[in-house]
Amino acid sequence: MADIIHLLSDHIANQIAAGEVIQRPASAVKELLENAVDAGATEVQLVIRDAGKELVQVIDNGKGMSPTDARMSFERHATSKINKIEDLFSIRTMGFRGEALASMAAVGQMEMKTRQRGTELGTHIVIEGTEVKSQEPCAIPEGTNICLKNLFFNVPARRNFLKSNTTELRNILDEFTRVVLAFPEIGFRYQSNGVDQYRLTPGSLKARIVSLFGNSYDKKLVPVSEQTDFLNIQGFVGRPDAAMKTRGMQYFFLNKRFIRSNYLNHALTQAYEGLIPKDQFPVFFLFLEIDPARVDVNVHPTKQEVKFEDDKLMYAYLNSAVKAALARNNMAPALDFDL
Ligand code: ADP
Ligand code: MG
Repeated sequence: MADIIHLLSDHIANQIAAGEVIQRPASAVKELLENAVDAGATEVQLVIRDAGKELVQVIDNGKGMSPTDARMSFERHATSKINKIEDLFSIRTMGFRGEALASMAAVGQMEMKTRQRGTELGTHIVIEGTEVKSQEPCAIPEGTNICLKNLFFNVPARRNFLKSNTTELRNILDEFTRVVLAFPEIGFRYQSNGVDQYRLTPGSLKARIVSLFGNSYDKKLVPVSEQTDFLNIQGFVGRPDAAMKTRGMQYFFLNKRFIRSNYLNHALTQAYEGLIPKDQFPVFFLFLEIDPARVDVNVHPTKQEVKFEDDKLMYAYLNSAVKAALARNNMAPALDFDL
């Protein structure tokens, strides 16, 4: 019998792996915005054409890359953010897997101009598949200007799975919203088909919420600020009368990453018991900071699911922080601490 096992080419391996990281244009938006944030940018611009199917572009004024790093950045498992596995437990960056750019290059056409801070000249690189089509010096401002064009042009089955422009644009806006909420100190601009959607100036979290969701939020929010030895909770919860019929305005961030957690959601909802009708959901924008050693963000490539070491404690702290914030604002019965 002939042997039948062979190694997949890098290109095919990357295309398969890309399925986990880049499912749709919005996934590229998330990865590119996070890279800009990790690069220390203070101004970031997102440009979308045809709901991201034709173009996802992110321009930042961050630290940029050297010509060699520019080429390396598209290799699989290439990252400047960790060196060894222990680094995962002190991670302060959004990225660390070194997979995003390689994945995008496997399923789309990439073009990047980047200039490292403090250097004279930038580099302009064009990538298709695992191949560098060209790389030349170029003049650009410090920072990085990166484009993903024609997503899934070479994987028609995936391209056909993309949804209507309306749906893909909603997903893009969701990812944009999550990143810009976590970094109100950074200026962001979002343009779709040549039309400005958002221009967000650097400022406070409250100001960012108001510029994203409207002036009515100025009056709807109650501050939450609670620091214990292992958990820091900051942000806002909505007044009970701001509750909504959907979960659309519920934002949890853990160490600046947007996360989903039914468990923490329950801690929140429980704090509103008796204050809002059963079929309504509280609004919240809560930022939890905990020692990265106590949480595993590495359970899923998009890092939206996390595992906590002390989840019962998290539940209790969160629940009481929200109850206390509501009570301080005379929106809940005083806590019976002295029973
Ligand atoms: P990760 O973010 O997990 O490290 P990526 O594939 O997203 O992996 O990026 C690979 C590397 O390319 C990063 O570690 C970083 O060094 C570099 N890089 C990517 N985007 C930028 C950017 N906008 N500015 C500066 N460096 C970048
Ligand atoms: Mg990244």
